[in-house]
Amino acid sequence: MQWGLIGASTIAAEHMIGAIRAQNGHSVKAVLSANAERGAGFASAHGIPSSTTSLDEMLADDDIGAVYISTTNEKHLPQAMVAIAAGKHVMCEKPLAMSAADAAKMVSAAEEAGVLLATNHHLRNAGSHLAIKALIQDGKLGEVLSVRIFHAVLLPEHLRGWRLSDSAAGGGVIPDIVVHDADTVRFHLEEDPQEVVAMESHGSLSRGAEDGAMSVWRMPSGVQVMTHESFTHPFAPSGFEVHGTKGSVIARNVMTQRPVGEIALITAAGSREVSFANHGLYDRSLALFADALNGNGQPSATGVDGVKSLAVAEAVKQAAVTSRAVTIDYHGV
Ligand code: NDP
Repeated sequence: MQWGLIGASTIAAEHMIGAIRAQNGHSVKAVLSANAERGAGFASAHGIPSSTTSLDEMLADDDIGAVYISTTNEKHLPQAMVAIAAGKHVMCEKPLAMSAADAAKMVSAAEEAGVLLATNHHLRNAGSHLAIKALIQDGKLGEVLSVRIFHAVLLPEHLRGWRLSDSAAGGGVIPDIVVHDADTVRFHLEEDPQEVVAMESHGSLSRGAEDGAMSVWRMPSGVQVMTHESFTHPFAPSGFEVHGTKGSVIARNVMTQRPVGEIALITAAGSREVSFANHGLYDRSLALFADALNGNGQPSATGVDGVKSLAVAEAVKQAAVTSRAVTIDYHGV
């Protein structure tokens, strides 16, 4: 399978080109950039055979069977729709679109065209989260009562661009990080949040968009979820906790792009460390996508998962802006 990269982005450079090339028989044939010079420089820096500023030209190449979309958020919908119409399989970055309603259109279009659409939610691919999920499924925690997510980080300087301005590019910590937290909770609990309350903040890095958020979600089972997302915290470790009637999981440094972190399981017997696999998160995301292309299983996060994570983020934003509880609309997916 030869891939076209739609977007000469940091995530493509740092993680996804390597993850594509790690799959047997997969390679990157071309990169699209709005800027010809930048695209050529990106292609040369990463050993990609060609670059273009024309999406039509990339999509007209029959050798390219799949595209990876990692442009700024407002471009995902139009680029995905034409790629799908051209019969290409699509791995798209989160948030899938600027609204859950638009993301649902991408899912319908992919279904009608018979192509694969996946969302690049990396956390459900982490060995740490797979180990936590196994503990929940094995009943080690008993009945789950609550989840707490600590996802307040310091945004690296080289990413302090469109994410911080309230621009048409979809900046803000809510579309950037709440979507990942929503996907991770859905992965672990296998149910969709129903209702949220939230507050946002505009701190030291904000140039218009919110750079902090806290929210509480009600799950259909009655489980309560609390989350904290921020771009401004230099020293706060990330974390994921699941508390049940028989045990608690306390995981630290696991809301990250790398296969790191620590997990403790606390029960009546005491506290013990839980080990987990250390494969690359994006490598597994691509491996499951490649398997699905071959007719085996599903991508780790589907297009529907991308609609749902965005629907939760949208509700968090609405709750923060209106200071009201918001019922989540999943747009029928
Ligand atoms: P970048 O800011 O690095 O790239 C986004 C776009 O900005 C690129 O497509 C590129 O446009 C342009 N650009 C990038 N670098 C420069 C530069 N030095 N000078 C001028 N323009 C530049 O974004 P990210 O890689 O951080 O994010 C891209 C997408 O991926 C977003 O949707 C984000 O939400 C998602 N993401 C997902 C992650 C995950 O774990 N799933 C992690 C990080 C990001 P052009 O292509 O036209 O050259």
